[in-house]
Amino acid sequence: MSIAIRLSLLLLAATWLLGACESTEQVHNGRFLAFGTLTDISIAGTSREQAESAIAALEEDFALMHKAWHAWAPGPLTRTNNLLAEGVRFAAPPSVLTLMQISARLARQSDNLFNPAIGRLVKLWGFQKDTIENQRPPDDAAIARLVKANPTMQDITIDGIHARSNNPALQLDFGAIGKGYGIDLAIEHLREMGVENAIINSGGDLRAIGSRGGRPWRIAIRSPSGAGALGFVHVSGDESVFTSGDYERNYLWKGRRYHHIIDPRNGYPAQGTRSVTVIHHNATTADAAATALFVAGPKDWHRIARRMGIRYVLLIDGNNVAHMNPAMAERIELADKDQPVNISKPLTGQEKEKK
Ligand code: AMP
Ligand code: MG
Repeated sequence: MSIAIRLSLLLLAATWLLGACESTEQVHNGRFLAFGTLTDISIAGTSREQAESAIAALEEDFALMHKAWHAWAPGPLTRTNNLLAEGVRFAAPPSVLTLMQISARLARQSDNLFNPAIGRLVKLWGFQKDTIENQRPPDDAAIARLVKANPTMQDITIDGIHARSNNPALQLDFGAIGKGYGIDLAIEHLREMGVENAIINSGGDLRAIGSRGGRPWRIAIRSPSGAGALGFVHVSGDESVFTSGDYERNYLWKGRRYHHIIDPRNGYPAQGTRSVTVIHHNATTADAAATALFVAGPKDWHRIARRMGIRYVLLIDGNNVAHMNPAMAERIELADKDQPVNISKPLTGQEKEKK
């Protein structure tokens, strides 16, 4: 073999190696606004062009979903809510129908602590608005009336594509599940576009698939103060990490803080919890469960997590104690080594007790 041919073969091998490195190791990032928060997309194992076109496609998906499930901007959900309040039988918009069906199942599994039928209560508390400045808590009597009306997903009858509500107080608010469902749909779309390694991270709530050149993704869990990380977990394969916290949306009135996660049993912001993080394979369930377990609180989260089939939970209570199941304790790396921790009984039969 001539020197020239040998040299060009070497060069070819070098460029191939470089190409391989770029395609497996390099992470391509994109960022856009979705569901009112910044959404970060990280893609590994593809060319830059493939990643860029995938990110552009996702931005369009999220814009459509944001419109479809918006609780107060006129669109498919507000139209649906008007028809539900009238009590008539109607053909539900496809974008709302599936989410209604999934929500009904998750609401039932959570003993209706995740209850997207309480849109009127969320609105009464002032959380169906773009800004919540100068907001004040509602009248106790108005809250009591809505709690008594007790709207739940079980008040909706779905028959094919038709739906009807027999509770005039029922209004849907998908604030506790829409982001999760949207991320699941976006992950499906990424896979259709040939992307196998990615993270979709919407304001700290995320689903990760594949790996980063064979290494797991390292994920920060938001601290209940809203700033900095409470801890870290490693995620690879396909997992979602969702956190519900009282710091996300709240307002101050006469020295008291009122946040956006409402306990459907009494109509007031749920007490006793500061944040809940759930790890689950799909984002829809992780999102709904984080909200439900926040409402369930330090005493009841274990029972509800079992009913919902959740395997990893971390709950920070009002005294800053971190409650978690043994499997969660195994994989979380807490940022503060002095963090008070309370490890529960296992959530599943396969899980070992913590010694
Ligand atoms: P998340 O941040 O996922 O916990 O969702 C909170 C949002 O879900 C709120 O801003 C409301 O729009 C809505 N929401 C509040 N309380 C509940 C509840 N108990 N069940 C279902 N949705 C709720
Ligand atoms: Mg949620």
